[in-house]
Amino acid sequence: MPHDASTHAHAHDSSPADTLARAERMCAERGERLTPIRAQILELLAKSPQPLGAYDLIEHISVDGAKRPAPITVYRALDFLLGQGLAHRIESKNAFVACDHAHGHSDVVVFLLCEKCGAAAEASGVEIGDRLAEVARNAGFAARGQFVEIAGECAACRAVTV
Ligand SMILES: [Zn+2]
Ligand SMILES: [Zn+2]
Repeated sequence: MPHDASTHAHAHDSSPADTLARAERMCAERGERLTPIRAQILELLAKSPQPLGAYDLIEHISVDGAKRPAPITVYRALDFLLGQGLAHRIESKNAFVACDHAHGHSDVVVFLLCEKCGAAAEASGVEIGDRLAEVARNAGFAARGQFVEIAGECAACRAVTV
């Protein structure tokens, strides 16, 4: 996927319905299945401006009509979404966000975490991605992914305070 040169930030580019449709397509292409629970979790993540923890998800999901699935079921579905690049885990919050970006291997994923409203947005800047990849390579390190967290105040919250 081509990137524009400028760094941009956004909570969600597309509607939850778009995110799901794209995920369905991607899974079909890869011979994977977006099972109902995987789809439910992805939709919840796509709808929420804040990252959601596994227990937030358990509260809001039903499997075969039964509420509150076993945590292991939710963790397995999350693992699948992370593995397919459809979601990210934000380490410092132990919580998850949906991702629409189909990142390349040397992409760096930058999370902008608002300490006021708790919103998590994703900024992508391919240039620092290449530099970070080089740092890892020079150390003989095989990077699996590159994640950076930036804490502060989001544009919406700043607009309220100034
Ligand atoms: Zn992403
Ligand atoms: Zn905020």
